[in-house]
Amino acid sequence: MGVVAGTSTRRRITVTGVVQGVGFRPFVYGLATDLGLTGFVGNDADGVFIEVEGDADAVDVFVDRLVEEAPPSSRIERLETTLVDVVGHRSFEIVPSRTASTGTALVSPDLTVCDECLAELEDPADRRFGYPFINCTDCGPRFTITLRTPYDRPDTTMAPFVMCPECAAEYDDPGDRRFHAQPNACPRCGPQVWLDSSAGRFPAADGIDAARTLVRAGAVVAVKGLGGFHLACDARSDAAVETLRERKGRVDKPFAVMAADLPTARSIVFIGPTEEHLLISRERPIVLLRKRPGADLSDAVAPGNGYLGVMLPYTPLHRLLLEPGDVWVMTSGNRSQEPIAYRNDEARDRLADLADAFVMHDRDIHVPVDDSVVRVLDGVELPIRRSRGYAPYPIPLPVEAPPLLATGGELKATFCLAAGRHGFMSQHIGDMENLETLHAFTRAVEHMEALFRIEPTLLATDLHPGYLSGRWADRVADGRPVVRVQHHHAHVASVMAEHGITDPVIGFSFDGTGYGTDGTIWGGEVLISDLAHADRVAHLRPVPLAGGDRTVRRPYRMALTHLWAAGIPWKPGIAPVDACPTEERRVLRTQLERNINTVPTSSMGRLFDAVSSLAGICHEATYEAQAAIELEALVDATETGVYRFGYDGTTIDAGPVLRALLGDLDDGVPVGVVAARFHRAVAEMIGDVAGRLHDETGLGTVGLSGGVFQNTILATMARQRLERDGFTVLTHRLVPPNDGGLALGQAVIAATRVR
Ligand code: ZN
Ligand code: ZN
Ligand code: FE
Repeated sequence: MGVVAGTSTRRRITVTGVVQGVGFRPFVYGLATDLGLTGFVGNDADGVFIEVEGDADAVDVFVDRLVEEAPPSSRIERLETTLVDVVGHRSFEIVPSRTASTGTALVSPDLTVCDECLAELEDPADRRFGYPFINCTDCGPRFTITLRTPYDRPDTTMAPFVMCPECAAEYDDPGDRRFHAQPNACPRCGPQVWLDSSAGRFPAADGIDAARTLVRAGAVVAVKGLGGFHLACDARSDAAVETLRERKGRVDKPFAVMAADLPTARSIVFIGPTEEHLLISRERPIVLLRKRPGADLSDAVAPGNGYLGVMLPYTPLHRLLLEPGDVWVMTSGNRSQEPIAYRNDEARDRLADLADAFVMHDRDIHVPVDDSVVRVLDGVELPIRRSRGYAPYPIPLPVEAPPLLATGGELKATFCLAAGRHGFMSQHIGDMENLETLHAFTRAVEHMEALFRIEPTLLATDLHPGYLSGRWADRVADGRPVVRVQHHHAHVASVMAEHGITDPVIGFSFDGTGYGTDGTIWGGEVLISDLAHADRVAHLRPVPLAGGDRTVRRPYRMALTHLWAAGIPWKPGIAPVDACPTEERRVLRTQLERNINTVPTSSMGRLFDAVSSLAGICHEATYEAQAAIELEALVDATETGVYRFGYDGTTIDAGPVLRALLGDLDDGVPVGVVAARFHRAVAEMIGDVAGRLHDETGLGTVGLSGGVFQNTILATMARQRLERDGFTVLTHRLVPPNDGGLALGQAVIAATRVR
């Protein structure tokens, strides 16, 4: 029975994905009225439901255009349509949201202020001229203000603000850009900004001007942003940056900066096409960019680092604060080791000794979210921290998951709440080493479980008996099974999951530390891995880690350890020998020889530490991976020489590399050349090991994961070598290679094992 033109039909359509809070309903309304169709549209717990009625051809066109012309911030995951009986609707309406006890509506990440709103912000004739909370259905806060789903104004922290007649008219007008924009507001009815300083309280524009003046005068100002407080200061002023470092208790760890605009950013860093695209993307992450030598920037911002984390303003407030030419340090408002401050009272309390003044506002942040950090690897985005702008958009899973919660690792903690084909990765929580972070973790889990209506029947966590995230899982399990996943297997599974790979791969899982199945510390692991199991087929030869954390913080101890393990004498003139106090050297030797308080470690991260110290670059680390980062920064990109690891089919021996490297240093070969040859040695070793494993197993896909692969010089060299040999190479593009991506791997492994 064909459809005769002019015949009326009615279709019920459900759309799932990111379709709430992104202007989807007004778009549907506009489309339906444009095509002369009647019916309704609304939000429910799954997404958007639509019924349209009218000319059959027009209904077909409607469905096509629904997909093709969907709003830019929306992401349609699934669209289902069924024919239903014609009921004779007279008009098209937007109907109230339906709540339901099941269903998983996706919550939009927070959206960078759009161009149309910016134009109004800067237009003196507009009623929102200079109003720092301007937004529309295309932009503004989302995840950070959402109390519960479906996403409607009463379910956000905008609930206390009653819209003025003008705002309400926009909100109710389906033809308006602000139709059902939940955070819609104006200076008359919406949130207000002010500055609290020692000179008193300054409202609105006066406060913004005063804050800018303070920063330019060298002060540290706390700024309440989208997902929490930043501490801001002038990045061009040594004194201001040093003051901030002192107060924060942060010695060398790089600060990120916010540059007022792209030309200002370009004056301090080199920006390639992919990097520019990321800087101005809707997600507006911090992008790690190569510093421009001689730029007008304090050396104290990112000492010893070849890269600088740069972001552009992403809220109207930031746009108003920074004027062209301004470059501000913008670092999370916290003391080192603590989660970001996000409530006004809490910030006043916790940041009192850190900030000279506070840019405050009265729109509450419900979900604290840190800035995301990315860099570019071979022309593709490589996440370093996946948070604001990305969370809580789900990662598609390669396997069907029962409702489960994977609690991640210890450093850079995130968790993954999974169900079906969705893996909801949390925002960055922080290092799980104290009670505050554990509380933040618990709160974030509870919020996401409620938001997505997922009640985990299963938990997954790291094998390490000492991780707080693992003990937390045991404590809340309440009879639910807890699946323990080996750390490096989880890394490999995370990069497999991203690429939708379920067949076995050769996985190189290189990082600083992870608990091995034999109770020793792993980190230079080659695993034949699928999503259920992993075989450790090769690894870096273990060396004794003496005194645990002390050696991690002092790379010279690691260098001495590697020399000792390779049978190379500690002669004066070798940088770490000179760097280590005589008494400490004596004790270390005794510890190594008698095996006192040591744990074997096959860590690749620690080998990078050792080499960094041997090359005289970094002997003491004040933040994680500092020695490796400074080593990478010095690599001479023109150098093509290489050292060779030993490899007997299972054990990878760094001894020959260290001997050749010391020989080079003795001969006066420049440090940049030595650093380059070491990086290439690791890449060539990866190629050699993969080649042998391919011969043995026939496998042709290689996964590269673990924190060491944040090093893009190494990752690029390894990829080039592997691709030359015909391998398919998997690197990260959705979750970080570091422990921030661990939970995804745990989730897919647990889901696979219980099937
Ligand atoms: Zn907008
Ligand atoms: Zn208003
Ligand atoms: Fe790791």
